[in-house]
Amino acid sequence: MMDFVNSSVDAYLADNGVSYNGWTIAAVDDGGDATVVAAGRGLVATKDYEPGDVLFVDTPLIVSPRVTGPASPPPVCPVCYTTATALAGCPGGCGLPVCGGPCARHPGHSDECRYVRSMGPKTGAGRWSAGLYNGIVAVRALTVLKDGPYACFLDVLQKKSTDMPVFEVEELKKNINMKLTEDDERIMTVACKIMDANCFETITYRRDKLISLKGLYPVASFMNHSCVPNTMHNFDGTFKMTVKASLPIHKGQEITTTYTHLIWPTAIRQNHLLTSKQFVCTCIRCCDPKEFGTQLSALNCIIQNCDGCIFPINPLDKTSFWQCSLCAKLVTHVEIKSFYKNIESLMNSINVFCPKTLRTILDAFNIRKDGPYVVDLRLKFIWKSKNTSLNLEQLLYKEKSCVELLDLIHKLGLGQCRLLGLISLELSKVIEEKVSRFNWNTKTLNIFNNQIILLRQKSTAILDGDDNTKISVDDNN
Ligand SMILES: [Zn+2]
Ligand SMILES: [Zn+2]
Ligand SMILES: [Zn+2]
Ligand SMILES: [Zn+2]
Repeated sequence: MMDFVNSSVDAYLADNGVSYNGWTIAAVDDGGDATVVAAGRGLVATKDYEPGDVLFVDTPLIVSPRVTGPASPPPVCPVCYTTATALAGCPGGCGLPVCGGPCARHPGHSDECRYVRSMGPKTGAGRWSAGLYNGIVAVRALTVLKDGPYACFLDVLQKKSTDMPVFEVEELKKNINMKLTEDDERIMTVACKIMDANCFETITYRRDKLISLKGLYPVASFMNHSCVPNTMHNFDGTFKMTVKASLPIHKGQEITTTYTHLIWPTAIRQNHLLTSKQFVCTCIRCCDPKEFGTQLSALNCIIQNCDGCIFPINPLDKTSFWQCSLCAKLVTHVEIKSFYKNIESLMNSINVFCPKTLRTILDAFNIRKDGPYVVDLRLKFIWKSKNTSLNLEQLLYKEKSCVELLDLIHKLGLGQCRLLGLISLELSKVIEEKVSRFNWNTKTLNIFNNQIILLRQKSTAILDGDDNTKISVDDNN
């Protein structure tokens, strides 16, 4: 089986003009390496890598827009992915929305256009339906995986294990007049389950807007998850994914990525992994109640005048008691859940970011500044705020937040991760703004300029031409 898997992947890479020999897909288990949650097999290094080394470049087999709904961002043209103000039904008559003639006639749309047309879309002439839009990924998967060289991936890639009807396929069926053939429906269903288990968020810029899409990357799909992954990846303008080492990787070691957010505390990561990927991560970080001393999960003790923090006794068990490190007060998981919920809604209620207000709220409710949801809020402030519009207090707070988050990344042992590159870049811009606002003496100016140069070098080395230098804080996959 492993030979078949490796040859499928090799053939795919060769088709895309690349070949690699520094790793292989092999059977793995988590017995030997506690940093890895194994899914039976994974990518294993066959040589040593240094941080920054490229492991492989992967091309997506399928790219698709996210499903649309009342709470979703507006649909994008499924061919060019721009958010056109007025999407119109494809003139070809497939009932999918497109931004105009060129996209309707685009070769990348022709197969799916023909297929949906042949199924009798239930849309009037010149109109489109959200249901067909949501089903597009199923159609796309069918056109790529039904016959031809990549059909093998239907067998070799992992699937989400569920017997529930697949949303995208159901959406499609509801919006066509013909009945899907049994074979087509089976392929679509399997393909959507593969997408659910494996797809990555790929981000692209269209007309200065950040568009979040789903991409199925066959090789990267074999990387298992770790909350201290040893790789990071960039996307270029053509959705190509470059996977690089973020930590030193030794020959024989498993190559890992993350399926969740690395700055989230364990309870939130665990919950996210369980709901989106159906597994309980047991990596070394998840097993450590203090998360390598960062205390990301901790809450301040609820006993008055106690300066201790409450940690989960067993972080892998959702129903575990939590306990204060100083006074030994026990707290139930039900109470913890409600504390977390309260902090979440408090943090979500802050619209205009003011450092003083945040401090007041944190003090009033006895919330840690590095605690759950607070770090997210501070990160959101770093991404969303425009340096030139900030007052001095906000600017200095942003600088402090960048420095503290970089320290957090360092303590978590995340190496040359993408977040490090992004925050370094942002910090360099904050210092630039600080430089421009005042007349500094030459000595201070030199210090600032050196900081800027170092931060830029660091971010360039990590982001490496990736023009997506903003990330969404609430993305999935
Ligand atoms: Zn378009
Ligand atoms: Zn069409
Ligand atoms: Zn973990
Ligand atoms: Zn206490």
